[in-house]
Amino acid sequence: MEDLGTPVLDNHLHLDPAHGRGLDAVRDFARLGGTHLLVVNKPSWLLGVEPETGEDFRPVFETTIDVVEEATELLPGRAWPVLGVHPGLVSKLVDDRGFSPADASALMQAGLDCAAEYVAGGDALALKSGRPHYDVSDAVWEASNEVMRHAFSLGAEHGCAVQLHTEATDDLTEVAGWAEARGLSAHKVVKHYAGGTLAGPTPSVMSEKDRLEVAAESGEPFLMETDFVDDPDRPGMVLGPKTVPRRVRWLLESGYDAAVERAHVETPADVYGIDTRAALSR
Ligand SMILES: [Zn+2]
Repeated sequence: MEDLGTPVLDNHLHLDPAHGRGLDAVRDFARLGGTHLLVVNKPSWLLGVEPETGEDFRPVFETTIDVVEEATELLPGRAWPVLGVHPGLVSKLVDDRGFSPADASALMQAGLDCAAEYVAGGDALALKSGRPHYDVSDAVWEASNEVMRHAFSLGAEHGCAVQLHTEATDDLTEVAGWAEARGLSAHKVVKHYAGGTLAGPTPSVMSEKDRLEVAAESGEPFLMETDFVDDPDRPGMVLGPKTVPRRVRWLLESGYDAAVERAHVETPADVYGIDTRAALSR
């Protein structure tokens, strides 16, 4: 196993041992010097779950908690689960299952309530919410914003971060304001799939060189991710599990040591309250 001399955290990826590469992806990550993972549950519909109540999300969450436990065994550091409801579910409910936007919003909020129980019990680190990245009706947009605001209330209640899936943008100050109004600090809101800079929440930067260079030069807090989906049907969709350790090596070789410290030690501590160094010497 390679040692890059620093913790190396992929802030957002998925693991699907039943259909994808599962723990082999974790082995690849660790071999290249990766140490820590935040594993986000897959969208419920990709696991064949058609929820009627918040409780119906439980098997989706338990699958992630189980694989995180196994992944931790393979890592020098550890993995943590991030649990929530994918914002694309609103369209499945409204377009395919005849839900009203309001009923879809209520079910998605109930799913988040269920996810928050795992955070409260210490079995998950953070919540995941957001809104569609594609065009939707005003009613669906507003229903999605309601879901996201509920996630912020839960984050404030449980003192945890909320990862967001949103439209591509470098300004989410309005959304960060909604979090602050509910008692959740803007820096504990994380936009996944982000570019190199972001106004409002903390960016979780897709680990492409050009985006990382912008983040490194910015001097601002950021995280690094791949959004590896671990889906054999979508092989070219995203970056692979080796990408974050490879890019950390490249950042170090390019003299961006402070940026590496920011993305893999300081920002994880500020956003999630995790100590990636301590977790290395457990
Ligand atoms: Zn994802």
